[in-house]
Amino acid sequence: MQLSEIMKDGRTAFTFEIFPPKKDMPIDTIYKTLDGLRGLHPDFISVTYGAGGSAADTKTADIAQIIKEKYGLESAVHLTCLYNTREDIDLICEQLRERNIRNILALRGDFNPNSERKPASDFPHASDLIAYLKTKGDYHIMAACYPEGHQEAESLDADIANLKRKVDAGATHLLSQLFFDNDAFFRFLDKARAAGINVPIEAGIMPCTSKASIERMVTMCGASLPAKFTRMMAKYQNYPDALKEAGIAYAIDQIIDLVSRGVDGIHLYTMNSPYVAKRISDAVLPLINPGAAR
Ligand code: FAD
Repeated sequence: MQLSEIMKDGRTAFTFEIFPPKKDMPIDTIYKTLDGLRGLHPDFISVTYGAGGSAADTKTADIAQIIKEKYGLESAVHLTCLYNTREDIDLICEQLRERNIRNILALRGDFNPNSERKPASDFPHASDLIAYLKTKGDYHIMAACYPEGHQEAESLDADIANLKRKVDAGATHLLSQLFFDNDAFFRFLDKARAAGINVPIEAGIMPCTSKASIERMVTMCGASLPAKFTRMMAKYQNYPDALKEAGIAYAIDQIIDLVSRGVDGIHLYTMNSPYVAKRISDAVLPLINPGAAR
């Protein structure tokens, strides 16, 4: 199914995100993850792009091709521009064309202090990359959005004004940063709609299955933690198995609330864990588009 068709007729999207195997790991290790995700019927699986990644590293595009060709599922690549020149992006577009990949999540990326490469200056913001990609081919372009504001933005309103630039440049679908407070997401949604952003916005859900992963994510993206969430952490933090179960239950609860309140889609950060993705999918799929065949 094409990205543009996923949300036709008010359908709610259910999409997954995975990351390529770490450096030094063969690309084949991704098969185990994909074998587990295949039967969960996501509308697409997006594949992240390493911070400071280069055109020489084709893992993201290779995996997106595998998802399409071997698993028969729709895929999307993430692509960042901070470290890529115009020539790099041209080369990557060529690699995507060879692999028949048309869905791109266009991002700026983050400064990576460990990168051997220097940031390039051709595309200072994701909106610059989006505008350029529009000249390069018939892509379905997605962009990132931040329900609680991007960390560098001076305010949520300023960030939403910049989000509008991405949509005006050609993004037709937005995927949100992870969040734990649904009310914060709906406050953001109201503001985005009031700012004239009318494209579908999928809610990013990260099941928190370990204390370390929660702390890392929250430091990185600044998501606020509702009392219900912190109580859960406090109660189960010394019991890893129970914490994992509680994290899955929290994500399910969050998704059911989002879907009942009419969200456009759920983008599940699977962390390459078919077990967690299956537990969540089994619980929520009957509630997403009830009655529709998947
Ligand atoms: P931008 O849209 O360029 O925004 C960055 C900052 O600049 C914001 O504060 C914004 O308000 C501001 N801004 C934007 N446009 C302008 C403008 N024209 N003038 C002035 N200010 C402006 N990172 C990776 O490295 N690899 C990945 O695979 C990856 N996947 C992601 C997937 C999702 C769903 C999300 C939400 C994030 C992902 N990231 C990934 C992280 C992302 O790269 C960072 O959050 C990065 O800091 C911002 O990227 P962006 O595309 O939102 O940037």
